[in-house]
Amino acid sequence: MAFETREELLEKYIEMDKPHCPHCDQEMILWEVPPINFSDGLGWGTPFLFVCFNDECPSYKKGWEHLQETMEAPASYRCINEPGQKNFEYMPVFSPLGATGGKLDDEILVKQKAEKELLKQTFFVLTDYYMAKDWDEILKIALDPKIPVRARLKAVEMVGELADVEAIEHLINHKFPTPVFQESVDKVIEQLHERHFTRECPFCAEIIKKRATVCKHCQKEVPRG
Ligand SMILES: [Zn+2]
Ligand SMILES: [Zn+2]
Repeated sequence: MAFETREELLEKYIEMDKPHCPHCDQEMILWEVPPINFSDGLGWGTPFLFVCFNDECPSYKKGWEHLQETMEAPASYRCINEPGQKNFEYMPVFSPLGATGGKLDDEILVKQKAEKELLKQTFFVLTDYYMAKDWDEILKIALDPKIPVRARLKAVEMVGELADVEAIEHLINHKFPTPVFQESVDKVIEQLHERHFTRECPFCAEIIKKRATVCKHCQKEVPRG
């Protein structure tokens, strides 16, 4: 079987017909398996499962009584199904809210799908701007917090290749969402300085020529760059 990324799997599962719980016949909900295995022997080979989250499910209700009697533990099981598999299994939960954090309800799924669509569109638009060398528009995308980070990173990269020296100021004055993102931006700022033979004045931080000996903004003598 070909290797599929988490996103590809999710996309596939969203399109799938949701299975119905064999105990209560309710539609099961797509659930994101937490990154930590909460019990040994339960290393599921899938990042997503379908789960019956119906609190009135007879199997789930019986589980409380059964586990209270046998293990004297307040716990139960919820019925689960690995997407694409025929058989149903069970996972333990220790409260009615147990595992509900990973629930991918329809609202979240719709949002994720919309985000994915936006990402795709942005990449198309970026390609157009890139061909047209329209770095101004590309810079706007790089700075737009509503655009998915992956597309913004691509935009920043393009800015490094195409932009005029004025882009540096916009990049410096913007707050980027993660350290990794900021690091990429810093590299691109370096790249822009290199391409335009400029640097920052060590005294006033304005952009000056690399070979300047006096800053044209603060008039101070600057060491050679
Ligand atoms: Zn059920
Ligand atoms: Zn200066």
